[in-house]
Amino acid sequence: MTTAEQLQWLIQLYQWDCQLAEQVQRLEAYPLRLQALQALRQQIQQKLEEAHQAWRTTRQKREEKELQVAKLEQQIEHLQSAARQAKSNREYTETLLKIEDVRHRIRQMEDELLEWMEREDKAFQAWKALEAEAQAQLRDLDRQVAQVQQEQRDLEAQVQRLRAERDAFAQRLPRTLLQMYERIAQNRGGMALAEVRDQVCGACHVQLRPRLYQSLLMMEDLVVCENCQRILFLPEWAQSVTVTE
Ligand SMILES: [Zn+2]
Repeated sequence: MTTAEQLQWLIQLYQWDCQLAEQVQRLEAYPLRLQALQALRQQIQQKLEEAHQAWRTTRQKREEKELQVAKLEQQIEHLQSAARQAKSNREYTETLLKIEDVRHRIRQMEDELLEWMEREDKAFQAWKALEAEAQAQLRDLDRQVAQVQQEQRDLEAQVQRLRAERDAFAQRLPRTLLQMYERIAQNRGGMALAEVRDQVCGACHVQLRPRLYQSLLMMEDLVVCENCQRILFLPEWAQSVTVTE
């Protein structure tokens, strides 16, 4: 087998691996995309829960005020019964004054109650409006999640298919050539070849010595980069190669 033929096999396998690496990289972005959607979902739910809590707080305040008013009214009943049983004019007058005082406090309390009722109403409306909006947003998010998950499954299947095709192709390479390729790939992040442009290694960006570049041009033997040890090739050699044979 000539060097040119060996290079054809190697370049083709390298192109399979580049394609696979690109797909795998795309696949790796999916968990992050799903996490981002999940975070958005939590934000919406939290905002909704806050609005719900705000309404419950105003309701509790309003109920407290109602209870206070009821207690004061009870106090008036007691005082009225005390007034009826008063032993002296002075006691009677004092009790009436007390009643007047409590009535004054009730009026104040009722103003506050009214204020809290308005706040409660507003908080309730705000919560309900947000709820409708949030439900629409959550439905939209669910659709997006389902879509991203489907894309992820499709890409996973595609990667599996590509890997099987790539492995089948690799088995057709002469054994020693494949072993050399796999050994370099293993040590070099999966990329066993490097394109040379302007006499520079495309992988490690180190300039080739003129003599090494000469022997690359002569194509007498496979040439590896002195710095990164990858098998070198010129871009034009890859042009006649097609991945899907
Ligand atoms: Zn290099």
